[in-house]
Parts: sequence; C-alpha cells; structure tokens
Amino acid sequence: MDKKDLKPASVFHYFEEICQVPRPSKREEKIIAYLKAFGEKHGLETKTDEAGNVLIKKPATPGRENLKTVILQSHIDMVCEKNSDVEHDFLTDPIETVIDGEWLKAKGTTLGADNGIGVATELAILASDDIEHGPLECLFTVDEETGLTGAFALKEGFMSGDILINLDSEDEGELFIGCAGGANTTAEFAYQPFPAPQDYFYFSVAVKGLTGGHSGDDINKGRANANKLLVRFLTQLAAKYPMYLCEIDGGNLHNAIPREARALCAVPMKDKESVRVDLNIYTAEIENEFAVTEPNLKTELSSEAPEVSVNELGNFGFEDIVSYSPKVAEPYDIQNRALTSTTINSKKGDYYATIRVDFRSTLQPETVIQNLSNYTFNNQSIIIEDIKPITAQGSPYTHFVNIVIPKGVNIAEDNLILKAPQMPNWVFESNDENGKNVNDNLNKTTGIKYLIEGVADAYKKDNILTSLKFTVKRK
Ligand SMILES: [Zn+2]
Repeated sequence: MDKKDLKPASVFHYFEEICQVPRPSKREEKIIAYLKAFGEKHGLETKTDEAGNVLIKKPATPGRENLKTVILQSHIDMVCEKNSDVEHDFLTDPIETVIDGEWLKAKGTTLGADNGIGVATELAILASDDIEHGPLECLFTVDEETGLTGAFALKEGFMSGDILINLDSEDEGELFIGCAGGANTTAEFAYQPFPAPQDYFYFSVAVKGLTGGHSGDDINKGRANANKLLVRFLTQLAAKYPMYLCEIDGGNLHNAIPREARALCAVPMKDKESVRVDLNIYTAEIENEFAVTEPNLKTELSSEAPEVSVNELGNFGFEDIVSYSPKVAEPYDIQNRALTSTTINSKKGDYYATIRVDFRSTLQPETVIQNLSNYTFNNQSIIIEDIKPITAQGSPYTHFVNIVIPKGVNIAEDNLILKAPQMPNWVFESNDENGKNVNDNLNKTTGIKYLIEGVADAYKKDNILTSLKFTVKRK
C-alpha cells in the first residue's frame, strides 16, 4: 500500500498536510495560523477566541438549510513523544509519516493521529463540495492533552450549534457518551545526598521495548508500565542487599504509558554477580507475565559509574508510590457496574483479575465482607484470593476482590454472590422500626422500615444475597 491509496483520500490529504504543522500542547500558534488561512482560502467564516480555539462555519448544502446546526469538535494539539535515539524538535519539525503494512505510522515519534485524524476529517468536510450536510460549525480546541484548557475556556456564544459531536475517539463507527477520568500526582521527597561509597558495584538497569500507549485509551489492555516493572525489581534488590539508588528515570509524559525506565544503583562489590542472576530470573518472570501484551520486553544491566551522590532506596518505600499493586498489575477492567471488561492478567495459564465492587449498600460490617466463605460464584472453579478495602478517598467502590480464573476455565460472565448471614445487628440496635415511639427512642433513627422499604424486609430473611454481575472478555 502507498500513502496515496489511503481512503478517504481527502481526509488523509489533510492529515498529511497538518503533519507538516508543529502542534505540541500549549504551542499551537502554527496550527491556529494554518486553520485561519484554510478558512480564508475556502471563503468560510472563521473566528478564534482568547484561548486560541478556532471555529470555522460552513453553511448547509442547498435544501438542507433547515436542519439543526451540528458542531464537529477536535483538538489541534498532540502528544509529543519520541524514541530516545531520534532527533526531532516538535516545535519546528514536521511529523514524518510512513506506511507500515496496513498502518500509517510516524518515524520514531508520536503520529498525532490523536486528534489529527479528527482535525483532518473536519477539514475534508469543510473543503468538500460533494458531501451533503446541514449547517456546520467546525470547532478546533487547543491544549486538550495537558488539561483540556481550551475546552474549559470556551465562552457561551462562541458556537451556536445544537448538537456537538466530539471526534476525539479511537474507534470507528462508535460514539461515546462518557469516559474515564484521570489524576495528576506530584510527589516530593527530601533526602540527604552523600558521596558515593567505594567498594560498590555501580550499575545501570533498564526496562525497554514496551508497547506503551495512551494512558487513557490503552490503559485496559494489560500492557506493562516500565516504571512499575523497574521499581518492582529495585524493591526486590533493596530487600536483599544494602542497595543505593543514584538516579531513576522513566516515562516521558503524564498521559503515555511509560515504555522505558532506567535506574543507576549500587550494591556491594561482592554481590555483583548475584544481581545479574536476580535480573535474569526477574526478566523470565515478567516475560512470562506479559507474554501476550509485551512480546518485545527486555531488560539491560551494565556497569556504570555514578556522577552524583547517592541515596538509600529503602527509605522511601518507592513501590507504594510508583506501583499501586506490586505483583499482579491491577487491570481494573472487569467491572460489575458498567459491565464492561477487557483483559485480565495471565500467569502460567491462570488468570488473575481484580474486580472493584461497592459493598456499601449491603450494610454489612467489614468482618462479614472480608470473610471469603460468604462468597460464591456461579462457576465454582473461580477462586477468590482475597478482598481488600479500597482506601483511596473518593473512590466509588469500597473493595477490591482479587479472583483467580484457573487455567482452562472459560467464563464470559458470572455473578459474585455475597451470602451475608443476616441483617447486621447494628441496624436493629440503632433504629426504631416504624417511628411509633419517637419519645422513647430519641437516640435512634426512626422509621427504618420506611426509609429502606423493601431492603429492610429482605434483610429479615435468613440469608441476604447480594449478587454482583460482571463480564469477562478474553482477547
Ligand atoms: Zn485526544
């Protein structure tokens, strides 16, 4: 296949054209100028706002003037990431595209298809004279990738359409009506540097070759995070040897899954060989764990001298910070609420997965919730490993339920059933059932019966079943 064979031809024509225009987040001046020139060239009403958002209007094709005005939205900034061996200045250099099999890719950099393909689609429609449509407003927002500040800055009246379709999605033929959120965390540590000790073996250890991807759209695909893999290894070393950490660096961007991570460490000279053995064992372990999603994973260890002072790793409990789950990456992809699911982690053929559930409505105390014998699945082969409370503030869920789907067991959908003994005593003790003796029961919540009608009756039966449906999709 050749670039000129890509279809729709005009979409890819404009995609190639905007690849020539640098557009990192917060530095969109060149692409804004391009859009203004485009609007002028095609005789279309074009305006910008203070944030730099651009709106280009196109009247309806004849006979369609009475249709509702549709706003098509895309963002004009792109994630700028490159391989470490590539020379590229995202402020001045064009993105070089290349055909690889049936894909259009960039040479050593991000492609900017997010959301360049949305921008190109709008431009193709604006430039066309053979697509029938009602009144159109094409909205191009700035700085989506680093905080959606362009969209936030939109003022009332900038657009006038009735329907807005956001083109920033990755799936053809699907419309999204919601999405996951994200959070930025800045962690600061104080430490006392001191001179590098002698008689130590200084080495650089790296995790490389990972698939990476977008931290939003690809987060459910079971891919490895280089930071997590590296820190998991360092934590093992730190537990075994008096180890020093001199440098650590991984990932480039807050919204890309880190593909490479590297640390400079030191262990006593006598442990030099055993660290190499440790890394070989660890590499085999993670290769097995990510055999499906990370075929090109590799690790490297080389002797290297530190330039700076060192600090002790053990002081920081690094693992808790970088990696939320030390052993099995939490996929978060089997859900009982939204009933969506994607991948789960495989280890020696068994599948490990974490379901997040909200047990609040069961009113059961922690002792009941964490008692594994209270649970069953429809498929009796599924094993519950443990149930842990979620401590993160603001989580809509209360517990992680870690399950194992043993090798050979096939499920697509199941129900986790909590068979709680009875209505918890505290509910009776702290409530007056119907509120008839309010004066005698001033310390109680009255009228529980009416408050939780239906629920309360259910609780009076011997067993209370709480059933949480979830689905599993195997890749
Ligand atoms: Zn995007």
